[in-house]
Amino acid sequence: MQTDTPLKTAITARRDALVALTQDLIRIPTLNPPGRHYHDICAVLEARLAPQGFTCELVRAKGAAADSEAFPRWNLVARYEGGRPGECVHFNSHHDVVEVGHGWTTDPFGGEVKQGRVYGRGACDMKGGLAASIIAAEAFIATHPEFAGAIEISATADEESGGFGGVAYLAENGWFSPERVQHVIIPEPLNKDRICLGHRGVWWAEIETKGRIAHGSMPFLGDSAIRHMGAVLHEIETVLYPLLATKRTEMPVVPEGARQSTLNINSIHGGEAEQDPDYTGLPAPCVADRCRIVLDRRFLIEEDITEVKAEITSLLERVKASRPSFEYDIRELFEVQPTMADKDAPVVRSVAASIERVLARQPDYVVSPGTYDQKHIDRIGRLKNCIAYGPGILDLAHQPDEWVGIDDMIDSAQVMALTLADLLLEH
Ligand SMILES: [Zn+2]
Repeated sequence: MQTDTPLKTAITARRDALVALTQDLIRIPTLNPPGRHYHDICAVLEARLAPQGFTCELVRAKGAAADSEAFPRWNLVARYEGGRPGECVHFNSHHDVVEVGHGWTTDPFGGEVKQGRVYGRGACDMKGGLAASIIAAEAFIATHPEFAGAIEISATADEESGGFGGVAYLAENGWFSPERVQHVIIPEPLNKDRICLGHRGVWWAEIETKGRIAHGSMPFLGDSAIRHMGAVLHEIETVLYPLLATKRTEMPVVPEGARQSTLNINSIHGGEAEQDPDYTGLPAPCVADRCRIVLDRRFLIEEDITEVKAEITSLLERVKASRPSFEYDIRELFEVQPTMADKDAPVVRSVAASIERVLARQPDYVVSPGTYDQKHIDRIGRLKNCIAYGPGILDLAHQPDEWVGIDDMIDSAQVMALTLADLLLEH
């Protein structure tokens, strides 16, 4: 094995460049929704990478959900070919950020540096990771201009709203496929010493119970959809939650509480619609003729999605059997299968070895409780050799005063560069 020193040194020598690039990216307010400045950030990245020999393509997800003339969904794919045939290592980062929210003490789009941190919306999720992967690739190419295979860097849209105008579109159009990409690293903020192998599954559904409207002074003339929903909630509380608590997973999900099946009731709406806050009158007395809840069920790799759905329909049928007038509709909203890379997959082994060489410790292997773009790379792109690995502290994502540590970016850029050396150089 060649010595790691030249590559590590090439990264530390680029510390100022790494900070400046992170700041440049934070200063482009790529807010999603609605999806602002996507073309701007892709153009900035193209202007940096193309002169260094990357072939850059700006790809608009025409016709994807949320794509419009006002807010086009732009993506960048940049590819650098080594001198000889070999495998392709792809770094995929989303370039969109979530809304700013309240409570900031720094400019969310200022990229301020203090105490070894870069601040701003998207600093940790995930412009710091994007910048680290670019610096890693640049340092690797400068240090080892003769390598086999290719390096790709993509900056993609809409991860925060499902990834359909980003990675899903690119995968559907062949950009992520085993024919052109062999290893995928997603620099999401999972901490520099952790490898995220995948995520749990998701199923969202809306349930509506039916009733019959009547005057509130004579409820016996109607049929309350809210009382019917109460029976559904009672069944969820007394039967389903205890059942879900027994379903444990072998997936190393963090935090620990998510190492089982979970269910959240996102919302409940029943009866008369809520009035505007400036309405000063009283509500009308009516029996509720409908009530709706939205369920967010997170499931495990050991569970089958058809069984997850059947749990809910059989629960509703049980309620129906005990309530003569009970009627319901169920509307499925969204589903994602769980995904988990094999711990022995080549990219996992390579990143793990690089973490040991940079940080002198074994990595932790984790699984995310929620999903991210790996779902599309796995399902549509058919690429199982995919992980999330990047700098930043996950808990800071989507928070006020979000930041990424400069030392953490340096360390993870070193891990990424050593991984490139491991996968693309002959030993
Ligand atoms: Zn993210």
